[in-house]
Amino acid sequence: MVENAEQEAAEASQTRRVTLRVLNLPEAIPIGAFAERMNLEAVQVIKQLMRSGIFASVNQIIDFDTALPVARAFGFAARKAEDSKIAATSEVAEDPAQLEPRPPVVTILGHVDHGKTTLLDTIRKANVAAKETGGITQNIGAYQVEYKSHPITFLDTPGHEAFTAMRARGAQVTDIAVLVVAADDGVMPQTAEAINHIKAAGVPIVVAINKIDMPAADPERVKRQLSEHELVVEDWGGDVISIPVSAKVGSGIDDLLESILLVAEVGEFKANPHREAVGIVVEAQMDKNRGPLATVLVKTGTLKVGDNVVVGSTRGRVKALVNDQGRRVQAAAPSMPVEVLGISDLPGAGDSLMVVADERTGKDIVAQRQREAQLSRRHTATLEEMSAGVATGDIKEMNLVLKTGVQGSIDAVRSALEQLTSKQARVRIIHAASGSINESDVMLAEASSAVIVGFDVRIEPGAQRLADQDDVEIRHYDIIYRLTEEVERALAGLLEPVVRDVVEGKLEVRAVFSLTKTRQSAGCIVLEGRLGRNSTARVLRDGTVLFDGPVTSLRRFKDDVREVTSGYECGLALDGFSDYQVGDIIEAHRVQ
Ligand code: GDP
Repeated sequence: MVENAEQEAAEASQTRRVTLRVLNLPEAIPIGAFAERMNLEAVQVIKQLMRSGIFASVNQIIDFDTALPVARAFGFAARKAEDSKIAATSEVAEDPAQLEPRPPVVTILGHVDHGKTTLLDTIRKANVAAKETGGITQNIGAYQVEYKSHPITFLDTPGHEAFTAMRARGAQVTDIAVLVVAADDGVMPQTAEAINHIKAAGVPIVVAINKIDMPAADPERVKRQLSEHELVVEDWGGDVISIPVSAKVGSGIDDLLESILLVAEVGEFKANPHREAVGIVVEAQMDKNRGPLATVLVKTGTLKVGDNVVVGSTRGRVKALVNDQGRRVQAAAPSMPVEVLGISDLPGAGDSLMVVADERTGKDIVAQRQREAQLSRRHTATLEEMSAGVATGDIKEMNLVLKTGVQGSIDAVRSALEQLTSKQARVRIIHAASGSINESDVMLAEASSAVIVGFDVRIEPGAQRLADQDDVEIRHYDIIYRLTEEVERALAGLLEPVVRDVVEGKLEVRAVFSLTKTRQSAGCIVLEGRLGRNSTARVLRDGTVLFDGPVTSLRRFKDDVREVTSGYECGLALDGFSDYQVGDIIEAHRVQ
C-alpha cells in the first residue's frame, strides 16, 4: 500500500513536471471523462478522491469544486470553462468517439519591438512555401503552417490587446501563447502585462527569447527576470519551455515549432470534424466588390460552402471559402482559418459563427439575438455585486486589477490586499502594475469579471470611455486604509451598494423660446452623451445647480422625440423650471 502510494506520488510528481496544465472543466463532469481529460485512468482519480474521503464510481458525476483539488494533485490548474458563446453553442452533444486531434492555435505576445511581427513573418515564410508551392500568401488575419506534417495555426494580430479584446467578447481562440522577449532588452512593462493577461486566460506559455544574434543578448538575465514574474523556465527548474531564437536570422524557429507541438500534444486539443461547424471571427472587413468578409477560425466541425450560418447578430450562406494562400476551398476543418464570403452584414472580431439547418432558422436566431442585444447589457462586476455574491456564497474569489501611480507602492498595496481573506472569499489580483489605467486594463477586467482598483493613479481618457461603455468598474483610492477596508468588507459580503449619480448627457442652452407668457423652453445642443424624454436633468449656471427635475418635453423641429444624442439640437422643457439663459448647461443624470 505504502509502495503504491509512493509510486503514485512519484507518478503525480512526474505529471507535475509536464509543461501544460491548464484544464477546462464544466460545472459537473463524470469521473471517467474527467480522468480522460487528464489522460489518466479513472481509478487514479477515484483513489485520489478517496484520500479526501469521497467514495465514488467511474460513472458518478462530480462538481467543479470537488474536481479542483483532484486536478491540482495531478498537476493541472483547473478552471471553469468560460461561459463563452462558443461553449454555449459547441458543447451540445459533442460525441467523444468522434473527437479527433486538431491543430493548436497560437498567439504571439510581448513588448513592443521585441520582434513579434518579425517572428510571425519568419515562421510563415519558412513553412508555408514548403506546404503549398506557388501559393500567394494572403493576409486574412491568421495562417497555418505545417511542421513535420503537423499543422499549426497562428493568429496574425500579435499582442495582448487583441488577445484580451477577444476574450472580453467571450471568445477564447488561443490555445498556446508564445511570449516573445528580446534577449538584449529583457522583460519590459508590456512583457509583464502580457504574462498577466495570458495567466488570466489560463493559456499555456512558450517563451521565445528573441534577438539572440544581438551582441548585447543576455538570455540568462531574461530567465531571471521571468522568474520574478513567476514564470520559471526549465533550466531554472520550472516547467516553462524557453527557446532562444532569432526571428531576423531565422535561427531556433524549428525548436520553437517543435515545442509548440509538444505543448499541443500535452494539451490534447481536439474537435469533432464530422459535425456542423462552430467558429470564431478573428477579423472582418468590408470589401468594395465582395461585400462583408470575415476570417473565421473553425473551433469544431467542418465549415462548407453552401452552409447557412449565423455570425454574431447577422447571418448568411457561405458563398465561398478562401484560405490563407488565397485559394478557394470547399471546406474548412477545425483550427483552419478561412475567409468566408456570403455574410449579409459585417460581423465583429470575437463573434461566433454557427452553422444552422436552414435560412429560416438563421433568421429566427438573428432576430432573437438582436432582441437580446437590445435588452441585455453585458454581465458586469462591481465591488458591491461581488460582495453580494460573497454573501450568497456564489463568489469565492474576487478578481482585481490593481494599478498604482508609482512603482514603489505596488508591492505594499498588493500585499495589503492579498493578506485580506475571509471565511467566504479571497482576493485574486490578476494584474498589478504601475502607470495610468489603460484600455487593456479595462479589457482584462471585463474578460475576467474583475474590478479595477486604482491607487493614486490617472485614467487614460480612452480607458474611461471603454469602461463606461462596457460597464467596468474603476475604483479610486488615495489612502491605503480606505482601500483595504472596502475590500475587506466586500470579502465578508458586507459592502453595501453605493448610490452613484451618473451623468448621461451634457447640453448647452443656445436659445430661449417662450411657450406661454410664463413658461419658456430651451433650445439646446447636445455636447456629449444623450438625453431622453424620461430623463431627469439639472440646470447649471457657472457651476451652480439651479434646478433638478424631470424632462416634460423634448422636440426636434416640430416633432416629439424619445432621445437626442451628441451633436444634435433640440428643444427642451423641464417640469417646474423656466428661467433658462443662453450658456446654461443642462445635465441628464441617473442614479445608479
Ligand atoms: P514587434 O513590435 O514586437 O512586432 O517587433 P518587430 O517584429 O516589428 O521588430 C522590431 C525590430 O526588431 C525590427 O527592426 C526588427 O527587424 C528587429 N528584430 C526582430 N527580431 C530580431 C532578431 O531576432 N534579431 C535582431 N537583430 N533584430 C530583430
